[in-house]
Amino acid sequence: MDINKTIIEKAVFPLMEKYRGNQIRNKTAELQCSQSYSSSELIVLQQYKLKKLLLHCLEHVPAYHQYQNLHALIDSDSLVALTQITPVTKAGFIAESDLYISDNIQRSTLIANQTGGSTGEPMRFFMDRNQVEYYEAARWRGLSWYGISFGSRCLMIWGNQHELNVVEKGSLLNRERLLKNRIVVSSHRLGEQNLDAIVKQIDSFKPEYIYSYANTLYLVAQYILKQKKPLSHRLKAVVSTAEVLHDHQRQAILAAFNCPVVNEYGAKDAGILAYQCPCGSLHISAENALIEVVSPQTLDPLANGEVGTLLITDLNNYCQPRLRYRLGDMGSIVNDHCNCGINLPLLTDLVGREDSLLVRLDGSFCSGHAFGTIAAGMHYLRSFRIIQKSLKQVQLLVVVSEKSNVAKKEMEMFAEKCRALLPGAALELVYCDFIAMPPSGKQRYAIREIDL
Ligand SMILES: [Zn+2]
Repeated sequence: MDINKTIIEKAVFPLMEKYRGNQIRNKTAELQCSQSYSSSELIVLQQYKLKKLLLHCLEHVPAYHQYQNLHALIDSDSLVALTQITPVTKAGFIAESDLYISDNIQRSTLIANQTGGSTGEPMRFFMDRNQVEYYEAARWRGLSWYGISFGSRCLMIWGNQHELNVVEKGSLLNRERLLKNRIVVSSHRLGEQNLDAIVKQIDSFKPEYIYSYANTLYLVAQYILKQKKPLSHRLKAVVSTAEVLHDHQRQAILAAFNCPVVNEYGAKDAGILAYQCPCGSLHISAENALIEVVSPQTLDPLANGEVGTLLITDLNNYCQPRLRYRLGDMGSIVNDHCNCGINLPLLTDLVGREDSLLVRLDGSFCSGHAFGTIAAGMHYLRSFRIIQKSLKQVQLLVVVSEKSNVAKKEMEMFAEKCRALLPGAALELVYCDFIAMPPSGKQRYAIREIDL
């Protein structure tokens, strides 16, 4: 029996609820109930929450005062009214972030946060407790699909330097262990020695689940497979977050850990947006967020099944609301029904960041995902990054596991296959000793440095 988990269930949560008004468990139960709603019931719920939020924005958020003419439309159909509002980009929000703060919110209740800056300037923003509790609840609901519950023992392999610094200072170390039953280890400098230490930690700490980035989990999985020594401990799930989880990575993680590999899709500035169910579908947290798919160039709505830019409206964000927020990710929504019994809508083709989308000379797009798929077949490739400097100029940075002729030959083949995806562009192959990780800790395969 895990004593720490029992203490968290029987004492920590009840005390937080009694003395601090914590509602995470209630909200999780609420979401576990609404996950079975029919599509029409879910739309009614979304319309109700959206109407309330839009009316709040018109009255209390200076950035939205200009939309007073939408009152009648909001009353009759809030979902249509929303489409009349200009989407907000990260840059637009950063430039005027004060205008997005509600004038009826108590400043002392705001929780400051910031993005990691994997796509440029970190974005600073505020959240309130209700909103954060709904984010947490969406995560716990997703985890509950795998038998993971409050206080389940977790090993987190994390790379956000800002957050690691806070944990490593020690002040949070005991809190993490006692209040969350969680150990946090760094995902930086994952050489053989550190990978070995992580594997030993899994066997000794015996977590119910591991929580980390796709690339980090892939590295750990490759190490386990290379050792040909299976883990002695069976996990309930390995949860991949913050980065696109490529198929080859999922296969390797599955082979190494022999447990469900779960994709969590979320962002600090948007919450937990979707969770993968045991049948493999990515279910949208539709009670918390409204997701629209639009063309990256015209921002016109796209039909179900078409891949485009995602616009997020957080239905619980009343302190600094961003309506139709252009998070920077691409994906599509489909109407399919999932066999798992959860009725939440499905997100597919989550191909990654908008600026991971490279542009060909003929104006068509090539997703960064495509390069990851090619890379999966390369034996000597340790890591890579493809950077589009201009329409005609592309750099392919590679780190190889050995400097031999056979490795060099394979890299030339890799470059040739990448060139085939970008006809007419000059692709330069550059050998590196390492590829620096951005401060956010999120690894990125493809980066476009030119505007669409
Ligand atoms: Zn499902």
